Amino acid sequence: MNYAINEIEEAVLQTTREFAQKKIKPIRAEMDEKEQFSKQLWQEYCKSGLFGLWLPEFYGGLGGGITCLAMAFEELSRACAGLALTPGTSALGAIPMFLAATAQQRERWCPDLASGKKLWAFALTEPEAGSDATALKTTAIRDGDYYVVNGTKHFISTGKEADFYTVAVNTNPSRGARGISLLVIEKGTPGFSFGKKEVKMGIRSNPTYELIFENVRVPKENLLGSEGRGLLYVQETLDYSRPGVAAQAIGIAQGALDTTIPYLRTRKQFGQPLITFQALGHKVAELSAKIEAGRSLVYTLTHQMDKEFIPAVQNALANQTTVHDELKKLKGARWTKYSAQAKLFCSNVAMEVADECVTLCGGIAYMRDFPLEKYMRDAKITQIYEGTVHIQKNEILTALIKEYAAKGEE
Ligand SMILES: Cc1cc2nc3c(=O)[nH]c(=O)nc-3n(C[C@H](O)[C@H](O)[C@H](O)COP(=O)(O)OP(=O)(O)OC[C@H]3O[C@@H](n4cnc5c(N)ncnc54)[C@H](O)[C@@H]3O)c2cc1C
Repeated sequence: MNYAINEIEEAVLQTTREFAQKKIKPIRAEMDEKEQFSKQLWQEYCKSGLFGLWLPEFYGGLGGGITCLAMAFEELSRACAGLALTPGTSALGAIPMFLAATAQQRERWCPDLASGKKLWAFALTEPEAGSDATALKTTAIRDGDYYVVNGTKHFISTGKEADFYTVAVNTNPSRGARGISLLVIEKGTPGFSFGKKEVKMGIRSNPTYELIFENVRVPKENLLGSEGRGLLYVQETLDYSRPGVAAQAIGIAQGALDTTIPYLRTRKQFGQPLITFQALGHKVAELSAKIEAGRSLVYTLTHQMDKEFIPAVQNALANQTTVHDELKKLKGARWTKYSAQAKLFCSNVAMEVADECVTLCGGIAYMRDFPLEKYMRDAKITQIYEGTVHIQKNEILTALIKEYAAKGEE
């Protein structure tokens, strides 16, 4: 089903579908095999305007919202989840900035973000702080007009390639989690270096790096919002970005099915096409229903989000305020439960579909020159990053308990 509800979304779907066919499919296997980031594809993304889909025209974007971002990410991931991460993680790194930045900070960073000239990345995870972000140890201690940053982040997507890193730091360690703040740290700042490059199961064309900060002096103008409010911005960011991961998961699942159905139609055993064996055909039908359910969940959610997100962005531009403050003024709903439900459901669908498709196609699907094994490897990450399946369940349960407590005994 086509979930685009306006011309912008329709155009995004068409453009990204064509882009994926022409620019991603021909190189995906090679980039995966070589575990290589494609700078050439990055330039193609810039030319196509894909980095600015969700940003206002004022900064050179397309004026779309969270739906456009998710639709693009679905279509690109349908071809290759790793290569889709070039614009995907740049959006993830930039969302906290876009939410919390002052008008001056937006002016400084958004035009190059929208054009794709500068890539962004998001650095929350540390060796000792994965699911529990409150345990992070990276410190940023104020010294005159600067913060002095020390610590290590790991598993950071688009590491080394990105220009700007939105980094979760503690600016007041005595306050524990209430001391967590967000700083934008530019590549090339003295003392900021890259450590281990991870060798991964999937999304191999997107580099995953360790970031090392040794007495890095970051101008105080790079603080996002207020000190101590970092976790709030992180949660708000994940509320908007998790539907993107859910859309990526649906793209992976659809890509796996797109590979499987034509194969089952042409491959014959016992004198008949595999798809005519009802056990196999029914499985295909069931998987397609799950994909559609996931897609419907994602776009129902993002369309609701955009009813607030797009006006909040317009208001922030008009009033020279932050998007975060304008959202607060408008906000009826909190998205955490719904975003977690979408990510949980769709990432499980992606893993199930990819796994079943390999089973359906048999031995050929185990081979590296047939794209299914890659979909299976890529699907797994959607159950892990931006919060594992268990963490999504925790978020959902916490929200449910609160809702039922508020209702009281019935
Ligand atoms: C390829 C890749 C790219 C990534 N990119 C980024 C990035 O760009 N930026 C970034 O900041 N991070 C990134 N991450 C980190 C990712 O978000 C974390 O790996 C993830 O949040 C899980 O943290 P962890 O790996 O430390 O696992 P752990 O937190 O150690 O969890 C291990 C297991 O315990 C479970 N568990 C933990 N706590 C609970 C609990 N309270 N209840 C139930 N179960 C629990 C988990 O679900 C999991 O099954 C990336 C990770 C990978 C693998």
